[in-house]
Amino acid sequence: MKSHDGMYIDGGWRPAAGTDAIEVVSPSDERTIGSVPAGNALDVDTAVRAARAALPQWAGTAPADRAARLAALRDALAARREEIADTVVAELGAPIGFARAVHADLPITVAGSYADLAATYAFREQIGNSTVWHEPAGVVGAITPWNYPLHQIVAKVAPALAAGCTIVVKPAENTPLVAQLFAAAVADAGLPAGVFNLVTGYGPIAGQALAEHPGVDLVSFTGSTAVGRRIGAVAGAAVKRVALELGGKSANVILPGADLAKAVKVGVANVCANAGQTCSAWTRMLVHEDAYDEAVELAGAAAANYPPGDPHDPDTRLGPLVSAAQRDRVRGYIEGGIADGARLVTGGPAAPAGLERGYFVSPTVFADVTPEMVIAREEIFGPVLSVLRYTDPDDALRIANDTAYGLAGAVWAAEQDEAVAFARRMDAGQIDVNGGRFNPLAPFGGYKQSGVGRELGVHGLTEYLQTKSLQL
Ligand code: NAP
Ligand code: MG
Repeated sequence: MKSHDGMYIDGGWRPAAGTDAIEVVSPSDERTIGSVPAGNALDVDTAVRAARAALPQWAGTAPADRAARLAALRDALAARREEIADTVVAELGAPIGFARAVHADLPITVAGSYADLAATYAFREQIGNSTVWHEPAGVVGAITPWNYPLHQIVAKVAPALAAGCTIVVKPAENTPLVAQLFAAAVADAGLPAGVFNLVTGYGPIAGQALAEHPGVDLVSFTGSTAVGRRIGAVAGAAVKRVALELGGKSANVILPGADLAKAVKVGVANVCANAGQTCSAWTRMLVHEDAYDEAVELAGAAAANYPPGDPHDPDTRLGPLVSAAQRDRVRGYIEGGIADGARLVTGGPAAPAGLERGYFVSPTVFADVTPEMVIAREEIFGPVLSVLRYTDPDDALRIANDTAYGLAGAVWAAEQDEAVAFARRMDAGQIDVNGGRFNPLAPFGGYKQSGVGRELGVHGLTEYLQTKSLQL
């Protein structure tokens, strides 16, 4: 894999301030595939200064010009689609088909959506005798995770640039190569120097320096709730704006009368996608007691359709987890579920046969899971499904909402109206009704401890704006 030994700052690749490096490891075979510099506070400072210097001019460009640059960025990403997919296979271990269709194509779509929004959004409105201007929030510091590594960068950079902000990104240590590819696409697209800057590095060093930097006006973070809490505290103390996209423990509620076979099949696919490393994954399946045994059997059978395998093979649907640490964490949760008395239907903590090398985990289904068990409460971030029983729809709603999180969910019912009414009572930000498909223009974000703020579409754009009222 191609890697740069510098930081992308002020429109070019610059040597890092220090000599520390991050080795990038392929999760499917544990081989080192590249190395990037581990940035420190000096690199972050240089990048933030570049973003500050570029801000007045970029903020002052006509929205149509920003739209044209974003369209060029979309085209530059599209031209690198195969390179992006191959890189995500290599550093994340996502199966090649999923890497193309989601890890590459989704960010291309999102970049394009912000080219459209920059061109059409009303940055000025009239309220009585006031003209209200929607102005850029300033310099953005973005800290992103590894699970959808390019999507999460684009979901911050594209709206920030559309709004007229400039940005510094600190990507996850596990997936810096696709972040470097994104910087190359920014260069291809001819964005002015300093508008986008990339500092690779470790979270507690480069990430923390970015969140704390006084030259950053808005911090946008996606990742764990533990780190998000700290970033929120740092931003709060400095009276900076902050957006947090955190974890989830989303419920897939199958109401009596729903198409059980379809609901279970789609539910298992949802949990196995990206090897379960999805913040919005429906990791709790809630089934009425009368349909419970049938649902558990269907779930076990559906999981058999996801044998772990080499992510380079086009037939593979379940690749490895991103790192040894994540694999060990997920195995620990599986062992904990067994110890707590949940019934293991399929899968388990052992390495899948023939896959001792690489960070593989078998798709795992637990039955007889009760709401107080750890596997029903904590985000596992692996291909692990808990099937819970409810007695009536009110009981299902109580269990669905009995979580500190509130990112996403699903409802299945015989009647669309019934499913919609149930979804309205769920405390979550994104709910798929009877298999409704993902919409990259709809706001994405969490209720409760799943976060603060929304990404994607026009709601994602307004996060990067602040208003000024002129009374005339
Ligand atoms: P994480 O530590 O929250 O990482 C997210 C980002 O924050 C990374 O860029 C990370 O850098 C950075 N970071 C870490 N500590 C920081 C600090 N003190 N100050 C500023 N930035 C910091 O998440 P993780 O370790 O990759 O994964 C742990 C768990 O988080 C997962 O098992 C999962 O439950 C959850 N998670 C959720 C999402 C989501 O989309 N909601 C995404 C990823 C993970 P490094 O890469 O160097 O650590
Ligand atoms: Mg971490």
